[in-house]
Amino acid sequence: MTRVIVIGCGLAGITTAYYLNEQGVDVTVLERAEAPARETSFANGSLMAPSSADPWNAPGVLFDLMKALGRDDSAMMVRAGVLPSMVGWGLRFLRNSTLARYQASYLDNVGLSQYSQSVMQRLLQVHPLEFEYAPDGTVSVCRTEAALTKGRQIANWLKQVGITHEELDRDGLLELEPALAPAIENFVGGIRYPQDEVGNARLFCLALKQVAEDAGVVFRFSEQVLGVERRRGTIQSVITPREKLGADCFVLAAGSYSWPVGRRLKVHIPVRPAKGYSLTVPVRNIEPAPRYAIIDEALHAAIVPLGKGKLRIAGTAEFTGFDKSLPEARLSNLKRLLTEVYPQIPVNESSMQPWCGLRPMTPDGRPLLGSTRLSNLFVNTGHGPLGWTMACGSGKAVADVVLGNDPEIDLAPFSMARF
Ligand SMILES: Cc1cc2nc3c(=O)[nH]c(=O)nc-3n(C[C@H](O)[C@H](O)[C@H](O)COP(=O)(O)OP(=O)(O)OC[C@H]3O[C@@H](n4cnc5c(N)ncnc54)[C@H](O)[C@@H]3O)c2cc1C
Repeated sequence: MTRVIVIGCGLAGITTAYYLNEQGVDVTVLERAEAPARETSFANGSLMAPSSADPWNAPGVLFDLMKALGRDDSAMMVRAGVLPSMVGWGLRFLRNSTLARYQASYLDNVGLSQYSQSVMQRLLQVHPLEFEYAPDGTVSVCRTEAALTKGRQIANWLKQVGITHEELDRDGLLELEPALAPAIENFVGGIRYPQDEVGNARLFCLALKQVAEDAGVVFRFSEQVLGVERRRGTIQSVITPREKLGADCFVLAAGSYSWPVGRRLKVHIPVRPAKGYSLTVPVRNIEPAPRYAIIDEALHAAIVPLGKGKLRIAGTAEFTGFDKSLPEARLSNLKRLLTEVYPQIPVNESSMQPWCGLRPMTPDGRPLLGSTRLSNLFVNTGHGPLGWTMACGSGKAVADVVLGNDPEIDLAPFSMARF
């Protein structure tokens, strides 16, 4: 039986392990944390939204970054201290911000996201996992006529790849989401994307890990990969503090840490961490309660009802290395968004759960899926702000590549060979 070691137990690692095991592979997952989904898959924005699969280096991103210098209230910023480690990656990021490249990456990402939705549907038919799943769509709200015009253009452009939408004026917004009433004057309208979905990524990871474990996948927690043994272009084994573990193939799914772990494997993984924040807020005794995920493109942020009685507010991006601090100046952007959208929900510091995570970003906004220059090393990483949206499709497709099967989706746009 083929033996595979998966490095990392977030969304990418767990889905890969599940789909490998489904095809009869002997799988071990190595995770340095003490439980699944303790890094970026812990408290993300919860959106599975093909409509929002745009890379973040849109045309004009350089101007936006310059404007954001030193401004803690900006949607995306770079801290000066990390600039030296960002030079090569950053130039590629900017090179990919031409309209043609941006649009090509957007459509590739939409395709993978839609595939991922279909793979998840098949999964849920076999295993009805509980993860606060709500396939009710999202609403992208607009504060100005100019933003609505831009939103309409994007929505019409996305029609070519099967993404449907409904434009809402102020009354339409209110009819759909009566909880917006106290702040409706802040918005001129919005675009509803009914095919988008939401769900709790961490609960999904916990549930799928249990299914995979019951089916025979071995999960080893608190076990960090520190190095590897290589021979003639292949990896023989990985080294952890406890032992040396051999396998036929290895899958690197270590999120932002795929970059430093890749260095130990002597493979360049062009991923940099883009920090983002979330606040999980209990919502009690608010009538009517928010029902739909609201996306604010201007702040790269969203407010998402999760399960019964909570909202997840998540977003903004900051290139600041592997720093995991929670500065008030950045969290206050999310509090401000809550107040602007739902002023009736009190900003109660003591009951909010603040969190930050490091999105694994590639320079062109597309993930890295499949083979590497080492014949038995594969990658499933670099999903940036879309790792939940693309999780099931990426896991299934990478498992297919590892096993030498044709994936159901063309992985050429996501190949390591492009770097
Ligand atoms: C604020 C925020 C909001 C977001 N919102 C959304 C959203 O709404 N929709 C969406 O689609 N995506 C969203 N994302 C992105 C999404 O969360 C990520 O793309 C996704 O979680 C990445 O999953 P991963 O498995 O690649 O990485 P991770 O979840 O980080 O998992 C990698 C794992 O590898 C482990 N690891 C690292 N090094 C080693 C080692 N040496 N040995 C063993 N294990 C190791 C880590 O401990 C970690 O558990 C958001 C991200 C952030 C930060």
